[in-house]
Amino acid sequence: AALPAGTPAPPPAPHLFSDPSEIGALRRNLLAWYDRCKRDLPWRALAAAETDADRRAYAVWVSEIMLQQTQVATVIDYYNRWMQKWPTLQALAQASLEEVNELWAGLGYYSRGKRLQEAAKKVVSELAGRMPRTAEDLQKLLPGVGRYTAGAIASISYGQATGVVDGNVIRVLCRLRCIGADSSSPAVIDRLWDMADALVDRSRPGDFNQALMELGATVCVPKAPLCRECPVKQHCRAQRRKLFGKPTPVPDVEDCGAGGCPLCPPATEPWDSSLGVTNFPRKAAKKQPRVVRTATCVLERRGCHGAPEYLIVQRPSSGLLAGLWEFPSLPLDQGLQEEKQREALADHLRAWTGWPVVAGGLRFVGEVVHIFSHIHQTYVVYSLPLDGDVTLDPALSPSRWVTEEEFHASAVSTAMKKV
Ligand code: SF4
Repeated sequence: AALPAGTPAPPPAPHLFSDPSEIGALRRNLLAWYDRCKRDLPWRALAAAETDADRRAYAVWVSEIMLQQTQVATVIDYYNRWMQKWPTLQALAQASLEEVNELWAGLGYYSRGKRLQEAAKKVVSELAGRMPRTAEDLQKLLPGVGRYTAGAIASISYGQATGVVDGNVIRVLCRLRCIGADSSSPAVIDRLWDMADALVDRSRPGDFNQALMELGATVCVPKAPLCRECPVKQHCRAQRRKLFGKPTPVPDVEDCGAGGCPLCPPATEPWDSSLGVTNFPRKAAKKQPRVVRTATCVLERRGCHGAPEYLIVQRPSSGLLAGLWEFPSLPLDQGLQEEKQREALADHLRAWTGWPVVAGGLRFVGEVVHIFSHIHQTYVVYSLPLDGDVTLDPALSPSRWVTEEEFHASAVSTAMKKV
């Protein structure tokens, strides 16, 4: 039957899972592998043992937010400390943002912790402490919860049969079905969500989703996937294509035919047999990171017990590294000479401390490079010893003097620790 006008054509069959018996076999193979090989992770243990649905959803939610853009090995310790400190939504809702930032310090992407706490407050004050019970409502009602996190919480905590698509799932699905079009394009992402929803096991959706992600994290890895050990290799079209590559006298079943397929690799970058299964996924070239230079000054004084103390100031409550503490810093204009940099920083410090800081008094210490997700940041570090007391204008940013130990316990970014 003709499709109604405006409906996109369904993807060509080689890029789909359309055989119910194959879907059944893939679910069984993947889940059996997961039961044998899954990693022992604290959030899995908590979710399995917790009988209260709200507490279970909270435990999964915290893990999912921490795991965004961050390695499992890094997250474990942060997760354990967090859950010990705030075992429930109610406990988190009562925490201060400062405490949240302190615990989060070093984990990166700091707005995640802040939003988690804001959302917990919202659940407690507006939803009577009850977590929304479906993926749709989680996404709609909780700030900072996108489609992926909502699907993960709903499938793992409530057993809702809904798929998830993250970076690992994208890679696995693109390989299973030879999807070589730009995997960051909305059209491809939509198809992958459809596929994830169609594949997810109806009776064990949470385990199935975790299994698919685990496969991507441990077997179907980006550079050298372990195809021989892969529990779903018999369903993998990239693997088949690698083994029975081209040219073939009959039209290749893995190709969609005469070009124009929205999911095949673009004609300008066809299958490269030297890459094997890592032909998939493909991504449009990444944008170059923004290059930023910032002058920063470590102001030091003798504290009352003779130990050195350092001045830190708090960043604004929105934007990059919101609410975190840092040494007084000043973003520099591009191409500024060293001498001018130093003057600009001295002016800034003078205005801010009221102290007669002169450029010549600033000692250049070195440069520290730190890569944020999309920013290539260089801190040009100076130091300035002070004797006597400095009164800071309280109308400007909050500030405080800290010992080295206090500095490390404060909500400071990894970049500042490097400085
Ligand atoms: Fe990934 Fe290889 Fe398994 Fe295919 S066979 S899903 S490429 S690990």
